[in-house]
Amino acid sequence: MAEEQVDIAIVGAGFAGMYMLHRARGMGLTAVVFETGDGVGGTWYWNRYPGARCDVESMEYSYQFDDALQQDWSWSERYAAQPEILRYANHVADQFDLKRDIRFETKVTAAHFDATTGRWQVTTDQGDTVAATHLVMATGCLSSANVPHFQGLEDFAGDWYHTGRWPKDGVDFTGKRVAVIGTGSSAIQSIPVIARQAAHLTVFQRTPNYAVPAHNHPVDPERETWFKANYKDLREKAKEGRSGQLYSVRDLPWGSEPLEAAEAEFAKRWEIGGFCYLGAYADLLVNKEGNEVAAEFVRAKIRETVNDPATADLLCPTSVIGCKRLCVDIGYFETYNRDNVSLVDISKAPIERLTETGLITGGKAYDFDAIVFATGFDAMTGSLNKIDIRGRSGLPLTEKWEAGPRTYLGLTTVGFPNLFLITGPGSPSVLTNMLPTIEQHVDYVSDIIEHLRRHGQSTIEPEQDAEDAWVDHVNAIAGGTLYPSCNSWYLGANVPGKPRVFMPYPGFPAYVKKCREIAAAGYEGFRLE
Ligand code: FAD
Ligand code: NAP
Repeated sequence: MAEEQVDIAIVGAGFAGMYMLHRARGMGLTAVVFETGDGVGGTWYWNRYPGARCDVESMEYSYQFDDALQQDWSWSERYAAQPEILRYANHVADQFDLKRDIRFETKVTAAHFDATTGRWQVTTDQGDTVAATHLVMATGCLSSANVPHFQGLEDFAGDWYHTGRWPKDGVDFTGKRVAVIGTGSSAIQSIPVIARQAAHLTVFQRTPNYAVPAHNHPVDPERETWFKANYKDLREKAKEGRSGQLYSVRDLPWGSEPLEAAEAEFAKRWEIGGFCYLGAYADLLVNKEGNEVAAEFVRAKIRETVNDPATADLLCPTSVIGCKRLCVDIGYFETYNRDNVSLVDISKAPIERLTETGLITGGKAYDFDAIVFATGFDAMTGSLNKIDIRGRSGLPLTEKWEAGPRTYLGLTTVGFPNLFLITGPGSPSVLTNMLPTIEQHVDYVSDIIEHLRRHGQSTIEPEQDAEDAWVDHVNAIAGGTLYPSCNSWYLGANVPGKPRVFMPYPGFPAYVKKCREIAAAGYEGFRLE
């Protein structure tokens, strides 16, 4: 049988893979998408845990590439819940007839660059082998679930779940004794909902987290009309924000106002809800003193909300606020006032092992009917490293990235021609509203492919110097902020043995400007052949 040949192979059918497929078709290219799941939506296909919803307002957390799409679709809430976002992903897939080129329930296991043909040989667990001129990894930054290797997991006789691999039919916790391990965003969203169902909920916390209120509500029809009438301008304005969002970041540095004015500003932003809290001053992620005041304001809110002072103390984070992605909550801290909820601090006594009936920590045994691992992801590199990706001379990507990921613009990496990473390490990705940054990346990759075709060129690969300089540049920018000061997944600190490298690029507008300059200079830093 003749080998299947395509212009572009795309791995992943989340928002990135779907838009890449649409752009590829628009350029008249043949494309195939491989997706492990049996549907589109990526994050929103896998993360069906109770309470899952976006932390960027839905009017912004949506595609903007097609005006009719953004005019037609109506979001029901300020922060839409997972089922609605998944419906939206399916709506887009149907409207643009994407599913016919997506092979579902098909995991890419290997992708090898063949230097003689200049093509990528892509292999799947379903026996596909496809030769592709370009390979686009739309595998997601937060798609490789991190289930810690607890001793005795196989002995546990109850049910266990990971938030990022939630059963499609949902889980009924009614009357059950439930454990949640972790207190990141997934836990903070799911704990209030699980607590309302379970007979008893015990939360195991290693590190407390900052959360600001969502003040979620139905979308006001007048605001929706206004938003839609001004969508074009609003989307452009959002791109000027450091995280690609519309919320206001004041130009003022910390210290430019008296303390009372600062506290009034934090209080005002707390009432608005969401990420705008950290926009009170331009430099809250640089200035330690200002950051501490912002953090203490949140701690005071926690103490005010949680009745039991000892529990409140445990819930108060001590790290820099914003060092991990800020959580946006709906009734999280209030949940600890319920009689059926308890908090166990495991910061000094980690979970020792799971048992048939539960788990042991600090020498004490706890019994459960169900355990929820809200333990996050092997972020940014996890899904890429699970695929046997080999570039020129058979070099495995995992080997090249042994000491941490190295890319040019977070998009490409030396030794791997025509391989594109959507929102890869070294791009703003997870520090932003990810839909606009996904679109920016897909558009940039599409422009590169168009450029190659127009100039009769077949491959693009970064120069070593350009990649080295980019890695240094990302490190220098991150090093000038407070981001590296805590054990975040941005640094890979949540996965034992993972190299500690700050992976995302802080600052969306500066990044886009740099991408534009590079393109205008004939793709400076890239070798085109
Ligand atoms: P994903 O949606 O992760 O899709 C990647 C797809 O690739 C997956 O479907 C996966 O199955 C598939 N895949 C991976 N490896 C393979 C393989 N080897 N073979 C075949 N298929 C493969 N960002 C925001 O900006 N705002 C938010 O409010 C927000 N909320 C979030 C909530 C949760 C619970 C999580 C986990 C993340 C959230 N994010 C949010 C980040 C979110 O991941 C992005 O916004 C966006 O959905 C990523 O889209 P993507 O297509 O790049 O990746
Ligand atoms: P996370 O932020 O990495 O949180 C994981 C939690 O599990 C942390 O509290 C962590 O503790 C704990 N943990 C991990 N391993 C553990 C172990 N071995 N023992 C005990 N505790 C352990 O993961 P997440 O909550 O899934 O969120 C990941 C990212 O996805 C977010 O930052 C956000 O970008 C996105 N997200 C967004 C939303 C939203 O609001 N829209 C919701 C969910 C996720 P430590 O802190 O001590 O490591």
